[in-house]
Amino acid sequence: MKITIIGTGYVGLVTGACLAELGNDVFCLDVDQRKIDLLNNGGIPIHEPGLEEIVRRNRAAGRIQFSTDVEASVKHGTLQFIAVGTPPDEDGSADLQYVLAAARNIGKYMDGFKVIVDKSTVPVGTGDRVSAAIAEELASRGSNAEFTVVSNPEFLKEGAAVEDFMRPDRIVIGLDDTANGSRAHDLMKKLYAPFNRNHERTYWMDVRSAEFTKYAANAMLATRISFMNELANLADKVGVDIEAVRHGIGSDPRIGHSFLYAGAGYGGSCFPKDVQALERTARQYQQDLLILRAVEKVNDNQKRVLSRKVISRFGEDLTGRHFAVWGLAFKPNTDDMREAPSRVLLKDLLTRGATVSVYDPVAMPEAQRVLKLDLPAVLVERIQFMDGQMDALNEADALVIVTEWKTFRSPDFDRIKAVLKAPVIFDGRNLFEPEVMAENGFEYHGIGRSVLT
Ligand code: NAD
Repeated sequence: MKITIIGTGYVGLVTGACLAELGNDVFCLDVDQRKIDLLNNGGIPIHEPGLEEIVRRNRAAGRIQFSTDVEASVKHGTLQFIAVGTPPDEDGSADLQYVLAAARNIGKYMDGFKVIVDKSTVPVGTGDRVSAAIAEELASRGSNAEFTVVSNPEFLKEGAAVEDFMRPDRIVIGLDDTANGSRAHDLMKKLYAPFNRNHERTYWMDVRSAEFTKYAANAMLATRISFMNELANLADKVGVDIEAVRHGIGSDPRIGHSFLYAGAGYGGSCFPKDVQALERTARQYQQDLLILRAVEKVNDNQKRVLSRKVISRFGEDLTGRHFAVWGLAFKPNTDDMREAPSRVLLKDLLTRGATVSVYDPVAMPEAQRVLKLDLPAVLVERIQFMDGQMDALNEADALVIVTEWKTFRSPDFDRIKAVLKAPVIFDGRNLFEPEVMAENGFEYHGIGRSVLT
């Protein structure tokens, strides 16, 4: 099938590459000329396991092309996927300017039937706004070309995006009950047929319900995390091990084990903005989503949990203190620094006078870029970006772990002890067992693990 993907970010590039891998003829459009040049020169703008190889293979086979040519992109695909960003507006609502710009471009150049598939995460009712934007463009040039708008939210996880796209738990498709909706149904069914061979994974619904499903999923996951973080903070006070509690409750099938990890708060481009956007939608309808308001508040607070622990150990004034920080990306296997808890930690430490040595297996260039935007130059000067995780430890008063990269899980504790000024570890992801750390001679501060002895 001929497919156009508008936006070659995390979602667009993975979608385009995976659909090409299945034999489709994919045209990837982006407004960012540098990104397109990089892709056309064989580079990959993001870190995502397995992606580079798929892109290379399909580019060589002529099944995927990258361009900034809007007209050619609209002419190419009967299916036009919108996968542009929907960042938070100042009031927390989703900023739809990129989605609507993509819609207008389609309306400007389309000359036959098109199915516009919205993959971006958008508030309920956006399908109608996309339709209206396209209809307006068509009317302005007297075209009666037909189209329909479909909602097909994306559930992939950064760091496992290719795997998630190729083996989805579910495919949600929302479309209208009209003649064009029925044409879209047939095309979408054909497109996703390879994913449904084993068993049917597609859930068909109306457009608004599909749009809402994506927010409901992210809000639920964020709620589980904030719930556990709130309990972990109490566990620290009352001498309880939150990890034991996690096992104890996760074994109940009604609860399940996933997404119950206490830690230094959630980040990334999705949970924070999607929780906010859903709250904003509710406010527009005079409803207050009390649970989600608390989820957001707990998370903002939790991003400070590591700096609070450091301060309670070393005091408010951290002048002359030096800390090693392992992990900068908002989660492992990605270079994405959007809303990463590490940014809050670094700001808290640096503004109190500390210096830091930081290391992340892939996010170092992106971290250098965003930290320059976050912090004044005098504070950025106090960050040393290191080449290896062990190099970061030299002469540090403590090690602070923010991201649970695999390479941090079984380190050489003897070497760590030898290199740190004192054997102190603040573990924002509960990678280690407190008893083992005590046996190894470490002063260990996990999240919700202060068992009374
Ligand atoms: P991103 O910022 O990585 O990529 C968006 C891309 O769209 C950029 O390359 C940008 O240059 C391009 N763009 C903007 N306007 C354009 C236009 N008019 N024409 C062509 N290209 C344009 O964003 P992302 O992380 O891929 O997210 C995209 C959407 O998918 C968002 O709504 C997000 O909430 C949703 N989503 C993201 C994830 C994730 O893990 N990143 C997962 C599920 C859903």
